[in-house]
Amino acid sequence: MPDGHAAQRAWRPRTLILLVSAWLALAGNLPLWRTIWPLPELAGWRGTVFAAGMAVWIAAALTMLLSLLAWKGILKPVVALLLVTAAASSYFMLQYGVVIDATMMANVANTDVREARDLLSWPLLLNIVFIALLPGWWLLRRPLAMRRFGPQAVRNLVGAALALLVLLGVTLLAFQDLASLMRNHKQVRYLVNPLNTVYASGKLAFDHGSKASRPLEAIGLDARLGPTHAPGQRAPLVVLVVGETARAANFSLGGYARKTNPELEAIAAQGPALAYYSAVRSCGTNTQASLPCMFSHLGKEAFESTRQPYENLLDVLQRAGLAVVWIDNQSGCKGLCDRVGKVDTFGLKTPGLCTEGECFDEILLAGLDARIAALDPARRARGVVLVLHQMGSHGPAYYKRVPPAFKTFMPECASNVLQECPRTDVVNAYDNTLVYTDHVLAGLARWLQGQATQGGRDTAMVYVSDHGESLGENNLYLHGLPYALAPDTQTHVPMLSWVSEPMARRLGLRRECLRENAAAPLSHDNLFHAMLGLLDVQTALYRRELDWFAPCR
Ligand SMILES: [Zn+2]
Repeated sequence: MPDGHAAQRAWRPRTLILLVSAWLALAGNLPLWRTIWPLPELAGWRGTVFAAGMAVWIAAALTMLLSLLAWKGILKPVVALLLVTAAASSYFMLQYGVVIDATMMANVANTDVREARDLLSWPLLLNIVFIALLPGWWLLRRPLAMRRFGPQAVRNLVGAALALLVLLGVTLLAFQDLASLMRNHKQVRYLVNPLNTVYASGKLAFDHGSKASRPLEAIGLDARLGPTHAPGQRAPLVVLVVGETARAANFSLGGYARKTNPELEAIAAQGPALAYYSAVRSCGTNTQASLPCMFSHLGKEAFESTRQPYENLLDVLQRAGLAVVWIDNQSGCKGLCDRVGKVDTFGLKTPGLCTEGECFDEILLAGLDARIAALDPARRARGVVLVLHQMGSHGPAYYKRVPPAFKTFMPECASNVLQECPRTDVVNAYDNTLVYTDHVLAGLARWLQGQATQGGRDTAMVYVSDHGESLGENNLYLHGLPYALAPDTQTHVPMLSWVSEPMARRLGLRRECLRENAAAPLSHDNLFHAMLGLLDVQTALYRRELDWFAPCR
């Protein structure tokens, strides 16, 4: 051998593959082992054998995957990526009880700098150092002795085939136990690291690809303004506030014992303008899933099963002739506002409201008169629809969402590692975000009241949150669990409407009736139709039975 020393130290790819697969199966899967270890199915020696079998199964699956990728210049980057992915996702699974599925991956892919900054922490970095960087450094500094293309291809295929045999063997031997475990504990499949990420990314890319490859289908081509828009009539001004991470369980309007909605409750006590809907379900458990669904004409079930991309509520309202503007104080409109007016608060430096590139939600109300004045006069004369996208209760850094004056409940958790705080402090910080949202919504209602009395417009507002949140119940934090597994707190969302007296008269709407019906079960599916009804936009898409205003007109 010309270079005996280097040849001794170099590894065959299979050595690296087997070591990495074993490391990921064991150390990269602490959340999985921690979850299944206490399960009654796994008590006794049979359970131990089964758990060992599961570790072999994961290692074999990874070996198969990596064997196919064992090429010069490919294998090492892939290993590095898998190590870092496994380290980061195991941290979030352990700390927050989240799991990794396609919508979670979509969320990750759509995270912006501000959101990512909120999630960075020392425990996360330590996890990455111990699970990924140290073993990665030890494993990856070795040179690899790759063969020429032909022999290497044969080796790779043989390696993958052997791994597949082991995989099938273990599956057959443990099939009974495996099937019952997956059936009784559905979350387990989302914990298998980093195969969950590989699978979810693949599914996401496939879904996205098949959706992106189809042209957007226009909807509501027949949309037109209804009879309340008669010439000489006052024009409507309707604001839709898209809330963020507010859960119904902590809204005092819905019966929560702490006063998280003091200003809105005062408005509700003054007259019939405000109705709080107490039984509303979100479409998804994260922003990325809920937003497109709640603006869709299809409703949750049809929306989730179609691959065809459609236009949304805002396109229909605009097509009917109204002026539509999306004002964003968060991570963007997820494509919903692509064809209507858009304002982004990102990077604004308004004193008192914005710091470090981030603004408090009152920024959404700043300069609304000027924004309306800048709209196309012909459309403005017919009616204006504003969508305000809140930062709301976006976690885990709840404390960052609230100006000092609205920190009602103290002490509050001022860390983005929620587990470092007592649970009561986490709830305090979260409840403060709702107190502030209450202030923003009440401010909006007062402004709309002014627009109705002095501005000559028929005004109304609808507020609905995109999904809820877990605050440490059963060791779950944040949101984004697959819908079937998600606790009530992640899917039960607050929703309310505020309708001015002139708007009620315009529509022949009995506002007391809205309150009487406010405990009826509703969901994001209702929003599309209720907004069409409120704005009196007529189209064949409108389904009266889903418009919760309709029975009161
Ligand atoms: Zn959200």
